[in-house]
Amino acid sequence: MLKTPEEYVQSLRDLDPVVYIRGNRVESVADEPLLEPGVNAVAVTYEFALLPEYADTMTAVSHVTGRKVNRLLHINTSQNDLLKKLEMVRLLCRETGCAQRYLCHDALNALYETTHNLDLQFGTDYHVKFLTYLEYLQDADLTTCVAMTDAKGDRSKRPHEQHDPDLYLRIVSRDDGGITVRGIKAIVTGAPYTHEIIVLPTRGMTAQDEDYAVSFAIPIDTEGVELVSREAGRPGDPGAPFTSRYGQATAQIMFDDVFIPWDRVFLAGEWELAGSLTESFATHHRVSCIGARAGLGDMLIGASVSLAEANGLDPQKTGHVRDKISDLIKYVESSYACGVTAAVFGKETRAGNFIPDPVYSNIGKLLQGVHIYDIFRIVHDTAGGILVASPYPEDMQSPAVGEKLNRYLRAREDIPADYRVSVARLLEDITASYQGGWYSVISISGGGSPEATRLEVMRKYDIEERKSLAEKLSGA
Ligand SMILES: Cc1cc2nc3c(=O)[nH]c(=O)nc-3n(C[C@H](O)[C@H](O)[C@H](O)COP(=O)(O)OP(=O)(O)OC[C@H]3O[C@@H](n4cnc5c(N)ncnc54)[C@H](O)[C@@H]3O)c2cc1C
Repeated sequence: MLKTPEEYVQSLRDLDPVVYIRGNRVESVADEPLLEPGVNAVAVTYEFALLPEYADTMTAVSHVTGRKVNRLLHINTSQNDLLKKLEMVRLLCRETGCAQRYLCHDALNALYETTHNLDLQFGTDYHVKFLTYLEYLQDADLTTCVAMTDAKGDRSKRPHEQHDPDLYLRIVSRDDGGITVRGIKAIVTGAPYTHEIIVLPTRGMTAQDEDYAVSFAIPIDTEGVELVSREAGRPGDPGAPFTSRYGQATAQIMFDDVFIPWDRVFLAGEWELAGSLTESFATHHRVSCIGARAGLGDMLIGASVSLAEANGLDPQKTGHVRDKISDLIKYVESSYACGVTAAVFGKETRAGNFIPDPVYSNIGKLLQGVHIYDIFRIVHDTAGGILVASPYPEDMQSPAVGEKLNRYLRAREDIPADYRVSVARLLEDITASYQGGWYSVISISGGGSPEATRLEVMRKYDIEERKSLAEKLSGA
């Protein structure tokens, strides 16, 4: 049953997670002003699923239950599902900046595939347990965060080689009832205002790392779980027209000997498949990153054109502005095109769900990750200094100076100064404020570093086939 946005917010009040922000314990995440932009953004994923005009994009019929579900909880059963997911993420992110909940979709699809493969290889019963969990999430229309990235310690060392054994989350004991885990997941999107945590391993493992090969799901307020969160966006800042409304919190999640019952465990020591679980998640998730940054690109293209026009420059007629805007479009849509291609060339897994093509998923993510800085450079160049120098709304409306500011800051005669200043403030908010920095860092690091995507491209691209083509043509 689809929840309304209000029901989502209310359901957070039924939970009691341990969350700290700036040293203070949060009483109620649903009512915490520092988290409000994050809660608002996730609420939009509930709101849009109920709108008839978005029904096809935002919802799907679960092949497990036959019931209508939010597409963010759907298992892809076709290339069309993969494409719809990409479109959904763009739709949500052009409204909220970051939909956050798509991580859940990506983890569910990776677990669907990997639990099936685990059972085939090891005779375990993970898949049926996972299906029970999936049905629970779908029917209750819950939101989960995905905790994959460990603290990782010394990057040149494997989990078992670290100076402290808990720098990667690990199993510290097992009994008939379940497993007990200890450690930290170091960067987790939206964690405070989700219902559940899905934990995945962050890398491939060796036999000596078997205790680190672990995946499970638990309620966010499970005993022994503590979150240390950043605020979401720029809450309460009148100079932040967008990120005071919508934002994303990231949190550290610490697991202090947390007990996980077996029915919520999806990998426990089968190190051989830890890497393929990570890889499957990354392949789905990098397409989500492509959709998310296309949504950001939509905002940037629209605002850059609007500001150029307010400055008196017609982007269709002024040569260098035309070049800049067409470059912006090129960066945004070339990455998005890789997402579309990854969906269209998606393949059915042995488990029966569909996964995007990994080469195009990784190339699209690489393009948006490295070109975010080109995109921001163009936005800043096109806008001019007003981007960081516009007066605050209070000054534009002030009885003392408002009238004069509105007169002097008007550029093109038929466009009011307030329009120009408002668009400049939006661009500052998403490209040049603390949140602007945040958008560049999430673009380059979120979903994996550029190097991680390059490695995947080199692993998955059929280089041997290209070599044999060259040999055939050259007669070598
Ligand atoms: C805003 C934001 C939200 C995020 N949300 C989530 C989330 O919800 N869930 C989640 O699990 N993760 C999340 N992440 C984490 C993200 O996946 C990681 O930041 C990313 O995988 C890079 O890992 P890292 O930050 O530990 O950087 P590092 O791994 O430390 O990378 C830093 C640099 O070191 C290089 N490097 C690392 N290891 C090696 C090595 N062995 N050899 C050579 N070079 C190396 C990298 O290529 C990179 O250039 C989020 C990140 C951000 C910024």
